[in-house]
Amino acid sequence: MPILVKCNPSEFADEELSLTLQMERGVELVEGDEVFVWVSEQPRERPTTSGQKGLVARGELVGYQHFGSRATVRVRVCQRFSDERFGMTALVDASADSQAAYRLQSRIGPRRHRLIWSLSSDERDVLDHVLRASDQPITDGILDAELTRIVELMRSRIAVAGSDRSGRNPPRSSPEDADIFEMLVQRWHEQNGVCPLCQKEIPLRTENKLLQMSPDRMDSSDIHYDWPNTRLTHLACNLGKSDATLDEWWAYLGMIRQTS
Ligand SMILES: [Zn+2]
Repeated sequence: MPILVKCNPSEFADEELSLTLQMERGVELVEGDEVFVWVSEQPRERPTTSGQKGLVARGELVGYQHFGSRATVRVRVCQRFSDERFGMTALVDASADSQAAYRLQSRIGPRRHRLIWSLSSDERDVLDHVLRASDQPITDGILDAELTRIVELMRSRIAVAGSDRSGRNPPRSSPEDADIFEMLVQRWHEQNGVCPLCQKEIPLRTENKLLQMSPDRMDSSDIHYDWPNTRLTHLACNLGKSDATLDEWWAYLGMIRQTS
């Protein structure tokens, strides 16, 4: 069941939120539930901060604990609503032609304080639509963090290659960090998050090092990490293919995929 959590500005800080809140009657929490995060526009906390208010993010419920009518919920933020404002006024405006928006604003409007609500599917769709219709790009916090890691990884490889201490690494060259980051974002979306070497999804969070994202130069004899030569793959696929040809790689994949 999708839920809406209303919290104070000071509580919306990290990629993973831990909030202890009163729950609306009848809310059932299930790990993996979609969570919309709303920062109270009239928080009771002092001093009031000037940060983003209203609908600020979408995430996933990754853990919870009940204490009577209260619960501590852990929310992993997947999408942040960047530089955009959708607060109670906007929700009231949306009520003019949406019954679901009307119901939602009449439920959450009168409650100033922090609370967990369950959302009906049409109420959920109202918030989903707002996030999707935003002119501003919705930044994906986890993807940003992961791609930042990749940029740093690429930079360190380039630095190592350039230091010429061992004399074994060929020199590598690369555009500036911000450009690399933008290029990787484009690549990620173009690939739909799928590894081109095995056609399976690359997880953005995993404990398994082999499944982690890794920057791959498609033609390993070409030293450049540039647009035509850079793909995002699983670390295992990248290491496995190494400087083999694609034909050799497909032959290998075919072998391990054979069910005997
Ligand atoms: Zn792969």
